[in-house]
Amino acid sequence: MDQLFTLPEEYEALRESVRALADKKIQPFAHDVDANARFPQEAFDALQSAGLAAPHVPAEFGGEGADALAVVIVIEEVARVCASSSLIPAVNKLGSVPLMLAGNAEQKKRWLSELAKGKGFSYCLSESEAGSDAASMKTRAVRKGDGWVINGSKKWISHAGISEFYTVLASTDPEKGSKGITAFILEKGDAGVSFGAHEKKMGFKGSPTREVYLDNVEIGDDRRISEIGAGFSLAMQTLDHTRITIAAQALGIAQGAFEVATKYAKERRQFGKAIFDFQAIQFMLADMAMEIEAARQLTYAAAAKSERGERDLTFFSAASKCFTTDVAMKVTTDAVQVLGGYGYVNDYPVERMMRDAKLTQIYEGTNQIQRLVMARNLGIN
Ligand SMILES: Cc1cc2nc3c(=O)[nH]c(=O)nc-3n(C[C@H](O)[C@H](O)[C@H](O)COP(=O)(O)OP(=O)(O)OC[C@H]3O[C@@H](n4cnc5c(N)ncnc54)[C@H](O)[C@@H]3O)c2cc1C
Repeated sequence: MDQLFTLPEEYEALRESVRALADKKIQPFAHDVDANARFPQEAFDALQSAGLAAPHVPAEFGGEGADALAVVIVIEEVARVCASSSLIPAVNKLGSVPLMLAGNAEQKKRWLSELAKGKGFSYCLSESEAGSDAASMKTRAVRKGDGWVINGSKKWISHAGISEFYTVLASTDPEKGSKGITAFILEKGDAGVSFGAHEKKMGFKGSPTREVYLDNVEIGDDRRISEIGAGFSLAMQTLDHTRITIAAQALGIAQGAFEVATKYAKERRQFGKAIFDFQAIQFMLADMAMEIEAARQLTYAAAAKSERGERDLTFFSAASKCFTTDVAMKVTTDAVQVLGGYGYVNDYPVERMMRDAKLTQIYEGTNQIQRLVMARNLGIN
């Protein structure tokens, strides 16, 4: 029993070191990053020099080779102080998991070693008319000689314009629907790749979100990473592994808001005592702590399943994303309530955390879609 439900020491040591880095080098800029909707360059520099901007990259390509649970802990600890910054390791993982799952040795060496050096990797699945129904995408890749010509546009792409590399899902056979989609890697400098205006968002303001335009982009077949027609299944397999990183992000946001609210409740006095002494406040904080802990257990269990490639991963990754992001929304909303009027203004970070939490219920599949995924996978283990 000694080791059951206890993280091995190396993960706790990792948490401690990432927390120290986040508190010292990321938290001091979080407010400014949000207020000015600017990329968290300080966070990127700190993460990159600690090997944490893309910690999942295997050691043979110059990365840290962090397993799924270690990546979750990194993202959780960064999100605790700045959600936008936590998208740096999360987007890099999302963009490159298709390559790790389906690319050949040469392709992995070519792009993963550059990712380890700090070149970003984005993931281009969504389109303006194809969100939850991603398989209805209109972006087309057409054969030309030995290569391909890609035309279309991808909406809502995190880190578009910052990333050097883009995993792009395109239809190679529209007649076949989801079975006619193929995955390619494009580079920022490819002729015909350009970017739209920055989206003006409610939260995650430090993370650039832009459209990616693909205008007659000509590439060789060495850019194709999936079998022809196997791209959609690869895209869904990728999300099985990466939705857990969104759960991690939500977990960190919730933890950060809970800590601010608890500290505030012990300091703020009304009616001659600390507001913490009112049962109404205590119960809100107790519920927060309970829900965060439940979310953490589910997220870590999902990460372990991702690492081991277990059969019920699809259920667990959707469940961890859906549950934890709903918890984050509730916890951050209650944290604002605990702080009263001070929670509603940006003197304290809880209003930012509440705005940030909202996105986690929407991207990498809305929580309605997560429930669909769970329902389709009931009883698989
Ligand atoms: C800031 C941000 C960053 C993003 N980053 C990326 C990225 O890097 N790469 C990328 O590819 N995409 C990215 N996305 C896109 C994101 O994944 C989509 O927005 C999301 O999947 C939802 O698609 P949609 O916005 O088109 O909503 P829609 O699919 O139009 O959904 C609208 C509503 O209808 C509901 N709905 C839809 N279908 C069903 C159904 N069958 N049953 C029940 N309810 C349903 C949804 O849950 C939602 O409430 C990002 C989005 C945002 C906002």
